[in-house]
Amino acid sequence: MVTTKTQDGFTWTRATGVRLGNLQCQGVVQPPEKRDAPAGHIYDAIVIGAGYTGLMAAREMTDRRLSVLMLEARDRVGGRTYTVESDGILYEMGGTWVTHHMAYLFTEMIRYEMDRDLLITHHREYENDYYTLNVPGANPRKITHEEGGQIASRAWNIFVNVDGANCRRICPLPHAALDNVLVDRKTVEGYDKMSCQDRFEEIKHLLTNEESGVLVALLLHISGGSMENTSLWDMIRSHALMSYSTDNFGPIWTTYKLREGQSELARRMFQDSVNHGLHYAFKTPIQSIHNHEGFSEVKATSGLSFRARRVVCTIPLNVLRTIQFNPPLSAERQEALNIGHVNFMTKIHAEVAGTGLASWNGMRYPNNLMFGYGDGITTNGNAHIVGFGKNEGTNFIPERDPEEAVNAFQKLHPMEVKKMIFHNWATDPYSRGGPAWWSPEYMSKYQDVLQSRHGNVLFASADWAHGWRAAIDGALEQGALAAREIAAEKMETEQKTVKSKF
Ligand SMILES: Cc1cc2nc3c(=O)[nH]c(=O)nc-3n(C[C@H](O)[C@H](O)[C@H](O)COP(=O)(O)OP(=O)(O)OC[C@H]3O[C@@H](n4cnc5c(N)ncnc54)[C@H](O)[C@@H]3O)c2cc1C
Repeated sequence: MVTTKTQDGFTWTRATGVRLGNLQCQGVVQPPEKRDAPAGHIYDAIVIGAGYTGLMAAREMTDRRLSVLMLEARDRVGGRTYTVESDGILYEMGGTWVTHHMAYLFTEMIRYEMDRDLLITHHREYENDYYTLNVPGANPRKITHEEGGQIASRAWNIFVNVDGANCRRICPLPHAALDNVLVDRKTVEGYDKMSCQDRFEEIKHLLTNEESGVLVALLLHISGGSMENTSLWDMIRSHALMSYSTDNFGPIWTTYKLREGQSELARRMFQDSVNHGLHYAFKTPIQSIHNHEGFSEVKATSGLSFRARRVVCTIPLNVLRTIQFNPPLSAERQEALNIGHVNFMTKIHAEVAGTGLASWNGMRYPNNLMFGYGDGITTNGNAHIVGFGKNEGTNFIPERDPEEAVNAFQKLHPMEVKKMIFHNWATDPYSRGGPAWWSPEYMSKYQDVLQSRHGNVLFASADWAHGWRAAIDGALEQGALAAREIAAEKMETEQKTVKSKF
């Protein structure tokens, strides 16, 4: 296993304090550049970004013999999904859990022979095998995992059941939420106007204090935003994607991990493209894209510029507003970019003394970390805990105030935190947030324009995917669609050229 160090991510121990980067990661590309085309060369396509969207687009196009250049700001592949290794343990810093419910992802896992090589997050054999619950208006208590699940399920089911049919009537086809054969767009747009807070006001009288607290924390855990700025529709859509059952929440969202890590899957996809001729430049942030007749010019902050007939821009939603376009983007798209998405979640791994908490799950609301999950044992014989928080703005920036993070873990459950490992997606200039959860009406107003192209530039990202938006699968879907469109256009041009010769 060849690993190299990335400059992404933070590590904290009491002895060292917070350290940036220097973490082993399979996704680091060394040397960072491989391109030998002469200056001014026009590629078939430039892919900006080496997250799963970009990796899929590049792999699908190089597979079809297109000439492709990949440009990436970071030193590694994977974007918001990557794995670091510390003391022999793999830590997923962003996207983590995998499932056969995600068709694009599962296809890739099969292709690279990683579909059966899995680890599970929850273990029941250690001492603290229980769920702790601490919400306003109820005494903190210790319950079984099953009871914890039942409280969350009952509250969630009431919350999402807006149509009396468990969302099946209003969202029968979550991959085509806005325009499908069963529900007219106006009806969906009506629900899309509502925030999670609007819906909560309608149903809160049906819930106990515990159910209310757990529900609000769960909604905020998922959206990474606030009750007011998160759309109800995003929860309806998620429920539909979970096959309309909270029984699937655990198995889909928080159970199965790749034993070799997400960065290994990303690395294999990348290597596949390289084997088919991909050129690339990492550590190359892009600042502008100019469309010309028949080609585009992509300029890096270094001053270097690159040309291609088509561009697949996978830059995340909250970062796109920093890129200059010529001709400018439409007013509608620019408005969408200026608003952006609402997810500024926190995810922190902690190594905590002893094995007991490896079987613990718990929640506390409000708290800078609202949920904690036991996730196995470290090589030092300690429990590995993953903590999640919502957007706390500038009040909680873990790399600036690690003691606050330790405190937040200890408020979830007494524990001795020995080490923390995390990535702050909110302060990262190349993500400016976590996975994309949208505000009320954002889908109705902006989904179509975000998915549309701008001349030679195709925009592809998990942040506006048709299906599993805000997930790895959505990224792969978007990369595949962009690649297919570009390959089809190239074939059409070639056929026209051949015909005109005869
Ligand atoms: C904490 C967290 C937990 C998550 N958990 C899960 C999960 O369990 N399961 C799941 O399915 N999904 C999960 N996700 C979501 C998933 O990780 C993302 O949806 C997916 O990785 C996004 O892929 P992408 O390629 O569209 O975007 P990205 O991965 O963000 O890729 C875009 C790339 O563009 C690059 N870039 C940005 N700006 C520039 C620039 N100016 N110039 C050049 N390059 C640039 C970035 O560096 C990045 O590499 C999680 C995300 C986070 C943050």
